[in-house]
Amino acid sequence: METFYHSTRSRGELVTSKQAILAGLAPDGGLYVSDALGAEKLDLAQVCASSFTQTAERVLGTLLPDYTAEELAGCVRAAYGAQWDTPAICPVTPLGTDWLLELFHGPTCAFKDVALQMLPQLMGVAREGDGHDVMIVTATSGDTGKAALDGFSDVPHTGVCVFYPWGKVSDIQRLQMVTQIGGNVAVCAIRGNFDDAQSEVKRIFSDRSLAERLSARNVVLSSANSINVGRLAPQVTYYFDSYAQLVRAGAISQGDEVTYVVPTGNFGDVLAGYYAKRMGLPVRRLVVASNANDVLTDFLTTGTYDKRRPFVKTISPSMDILVSSNLERLLYFASNGDVELVSFLMADLAEKGAYTVPPELLASIQETFGCGRADDEMARETIRTTWEESHKLIDPHTAVAKHVMDALPQDGSTRVCLSTASPYKFPADVLGALGVDASGMNGFASMDSLEHITGTAAPVQLSSLRDAESLHDDVCDRDKMGAFVESACARIFL
Ligand SMILES: *Cc1c(COP(=O)(O)O)cnc(C)c1O
Repeated sequence: METFYHSTRSRGELVTSKQAILAGLAPDGGLYVSDALGAEKLDLAQVCASSFTQTAERVLGTLLPDYTAEELAGCVRAAYGAQWDTPAICPVTPLGTDWLLELFHGPTCAFKDVALQMLPQLMGVAREGDGHDVMIVTATSGDTGKAALDGFSDVPHTGVCVFYPWGKVSDIQRLQMVTQIGGNVAVCAIRGNFDDAQSEVKRIFSDRSLAERLSARNVVLSSANSINVGRLAPQVTYYFDSYAQLVRAGAISQGDEVTYVVPTGNFGDVLAGYYAKRMGLPVRRLVVASNANDVLTDFLTTGTYDKRRPFVKTISPSMDILVSSNLERLLYFASNGDVELVSFLMADLAEKGAYTVPPELLASIQETFGCGRADDEMARETIRTTWEESHKLIDPHTAVAKHVMDALPQDGSTRVCLSTASPYKFPADVLGALGVDASGMNGFASMDSLEHITGTAAPVQLSSLRDAESLHDDVCDRDKMGAFVESACARIFL
């Protein structure tokens, strides 16, 4: 295969998609990209006549061409099976005159499952015959951690180590992680926020002496964060599949443009929409919705990305992010592959905490990307009005996007709001939005109360946590994370 991946910061090293998936991050700290993106368009008529899994095979076949069709078919079968609570996998449902793309029907009730049920399959095929053990090290703002633990639990020759920010995830999210079973899992809370955890994970990956000590044990580190190509690629599927669902529902005709509004943190989800557009999906706008950590709203408005601002803890914790790593890939593609520029901007970010893109680059990004923000008050209000008007219960992340969608000027295009988590992952905040004081209630009491008040049912994936045993109670400082990874490797890979 002639398609190769290389870093967003240099073209020196070319790797296959399998190698990129195993490595996660490029050795120079950049993200893996392929210049073939968009060279091959998907056949829209075929997409519109296909199931989710058929589209997944085509999308992955295009983005990861060194996998055989048989390999991908096996991966898709394993990733999108009975662990999903609907055969549609990611159903599109009406929301007033707009549409909701429900991405939370997987085993951990957040959209991360779409990618993290697939990534272990892709990695498994990629490492066949290479003889190494792989330790997945991941920082989570709340949802990735559980989705990675579920996806990688008990996968042979693989361990998974998750760090989450202490006190900054919901009670249910914490319970999902600390009750994870499996002989190959490690979970640790860190004192700090998600960005602290993520930047320390990046440092761990570039720690040569740690790599050498692990390599003596035949262990290599890899990432399950959304910087991994193997996470990004599966997410492209639901943009195409949602379009097909809209055509089949008669909401649009094949070829009509659609606007997607995406609750955004690390920029992985919305970047997958950009990939879909480059691969031929008729997308009018991609609208980035931020919570009070609105660094992306400012960037998309002014061209300056400035992370030097207070970190705000919100009721949409999976979007509490000041460094949106996947934005680097957009900078690469929107600048037509200018690796020098990307390296320069990323050095500015590392050294000064900020960078400014040239005006032409900003203009080209703004052609496709819109933006908006919603603070907690607005998100609460949106949860309440959406329940009252449409009888749909949405989670705080989805509410941020719904608020931003409602504030957009109507341009007549069909609009899809991505719904990224079950409201039952955040029952206390959803209750609060509906006017019930849930302070003092634990996660389960708020779950019960939410069921009672709305007459909806909590997903069994979450209600069953009630009987699960807490297994992981480690808490550490940021500078101890490397040691935690090393001791987890020693325990898991004897
Ligand atoms: C991770 C997450 C997001 C943000 O997605 P990114 O790909 O990081 O932009 C939004 N909502 C929920 C519920 C999430 O778990």
